[in-house]
Amino acid sequence: MAELAGYLDDQVVAEIRRELEIHLAECQTCRVLYDSSRKTLQIATDSRSFELPGRVSQQLVKKIMARVRAGEKRKRPKRS
Ligand SMILES: [Zn+2]
Repeated sequence: MAELAGYLDDQVVAEIRRELEIHLAECQTCRVLYDSSRKTLQIATDSRSFELPGRVSQQLVKKIMARVRAGEKRKRPKRS
């Protein structure tokens, strides 16, 4: 069951990551937020490699995407 949970989690993260990448490509505000958060995390974890540990990276992506969604919802003007 733990393996299944891990698999499902990976699937969800993959989707979120894709969504995030698409959004970052067209939104500089979130790109800056993501970059600065990643740099802060790299310093905090004293990571010498460019890639963050998988778990940390997944948590970051989830956190950023949640913030992105909340933020965009609030500021997005209604189209008519
Ligand atoms: Zn955005």
